[in-house]
Amino acid sequence: MVGPEGPGRAGRVGAGCERCVELREEERRAEGRGDPSGATDCRVLLRRHAGECRAAGEGAL
Ligand SMILES: [Zn+2]
Repeated sequence: MVGPEGPGRAGRVGAGCERCVELREEERRAEGRGDPSGATDCRVLLRRHAGECRAAGEGAL
């Protein structure tokens, strides 16, 4: 879903993890410059990173 991102999404995955924040910002930047494949790359990286991300692993936060 593309649209304004509320705080709910920011708090869902890896809040407090720099790498997560970085990847989400990069994804948004790619969408902003009309680069859907770049945004997809970021989502893939983010998902892969989630496997090793403690913050995301705690999910229920
Ligand atoms: Zn992370």
